[in-house]
Amino acid sequence: MRVLFAASEIYPLAKTGGLADVGAALPVALAERGVDVRLILPAYPEALEAAANKSVHVKFEDAVAGTTRLITARMPDSGLPVWLVDTPLLFNRRGLYQDQNGIDWADNAERFAHLSRIAAGIGLGRLALEWRPDVVHANDWHLGLLPAFLHTAQAPRPATLFTIHNLAYQGLFPTSVFPKLGLPSNFLSVDGLEFYGKVSFLKAGICFSDHMTTVSRTYAHEVTTQEFGCGLEGLLRRRKRALSGILNGIDGRIWDPSGDPHLAAPFGRQHLAGKSVCKAALQRELGLAPASDLPLVVYVSRLTEQKMADLVLKSVPDIMRRQVQMAILGEGDAGLERQFIDLAQLYPGQFAAYIGYEEPLAHRFHAGADILLHPSRFEPCGLTPLYALRYGAVPVVRGVGGLVDTVIDATDEKLRRGTANGVVFEEVSPVAMLAALDRALALYAQPILWRRLQSFGMSQDFGWNASARHYSNLYRKLVPDAEPTPATLDRRGSWHRCAEA
Ligand code: ADP
Repeated sequence: MRVLFAASEIYPLAKTGGLADVGAALPVALAERGVDVRLILPAYPEALEAAANKSVHVKFEDAVAGTTRLITARMPDSGLPVWLVDTPLLFNRRGLYQDQNGIDWADNAERFAHLSRIAAGIGLGRLALEWRPDVVHANDWHLGLLPAFLHTAQAPRPATLFTIHNLAYQGLFPTSVFPKLGLPSNFLSVDGLEFYGKVSFLKAGICFSDHMTTVSRTYAHEVTTQEFGCGLEGLLRRRKRALSGILNGIDGRIWDPSGDPHLAAPFGRQHLAGKSVCKAALQRELGLAPASDLPLVVYVSRLTEQKMADLVLKSVPDIMRRQVQMAILGEGDAGLERQFIDLAQLYPGQFAAYIGYEEPLAHRFHAGADILLHPSRFEPCGLTPLYALRYGAVPVVRGVGGLVDTVIDATDEKLRRGTANGVVFEEVSPVAMLAALDRALALYAQPILWRRLQSFGMSQDFGWNASARHYSNLYRKLVPDAEPTPATLDRRGSWHRCAEA
């Protein structure tokens, strides 16, 4: 089984969020199961710096994007083969999707159409003759055009799997970009890329892939509803037989409190003393008062509406009235960033805010924390609470998306049986969130129950093995079906609806 895994970011070559973590760990777990998996992403400057064993595979002039070199390399950690699409005009800049002021690059449509076109070239054996994938696995809107490009091929093509990591990011562009994408003109139709007068890269992935996955089972169901479907729910409902959910895992090589180089002391489920050392170290690092018995609540997140950062901000004064310390690590909305910094000045020693994206610090936050506050308006998977669980920080989450599949509320019965790992609330409101936090704080005050909660979370296996098994089974199912496609051009050149039913 040969699989080309295509994404716009893969850790440690490039990362802005959870997608990069998936790209780092899933291919490794697939390779361990015997899948011949190769990766492809843009040759951003940081990716070129970090990749190992680089050599130019092929160099050519692209009519739209100019000089392009397809570089073969190895991932610096896992050694997996990776292709870097080195098109300086499009990718030689700092900032994966945005400039330093947080403004999207004006040519993002061309950038990721180009990446998809090159990946399709590999998929069809045109750019790497010695290796052709059986399955092309495209991720998120950036690679949404990849199934579309493969769909246009006259030649036999690989099966296509499209994974939606977050339906809210759709890759919407004015229709004026369409002529630059390199797709036949009839793809700009209601049964193709057109979405309410715009071009949607995500919709292309949904229409033209053989199968789609979301990153949890609950989210796979939610995206077919009006509340979470972002306007695509009708199409997703029509294709629901080709839609399933596979929960992401976490990379146990990187997220392991017993051997984490970023921590002040190692610890594990059976030896928690190191966690207290980590808590004291984090308090020192952040300028919080040294207080081993005060519960330390952390919030590690993009500062966005999705992550309810606005409600967290509003709730800080209420939280500060409780016997707790709180620290946030995040970046995002500039206004929220400023207000969190102001709050840190208002509550010195009790509230700390670190604005920025700091991977090692995220490790130290989870290790030092007692409670992770992770409210979300919607949550495709939610890796952060999984890291917290591994590091003995009890997550307080909203019961939505992947969090429904991973966080088990501490009801009396579940607590008694030792099968709870967190606290769950339902309503999007400060009142509901604070009530959940209070439940967690009440449990913290009962050390035996708290240990039980913490210990069950730390014992759970959220590694990639199960997910990789599901993905490789899915690839296997798709390969014999690679020829029939969900949407086909008839002789008159119009679209059959890309409906499954
Ligand atoms: P999403 O992908 O929606 O941002 P996830 O919780 O699935 O949410 O994944 C977020 C990832 O980014 C996790 O690895 C989390 O630890 C990390 N992260 C988010 N914000 C920061 C930050 N400011 N510094 C370091 N890591 C962060």
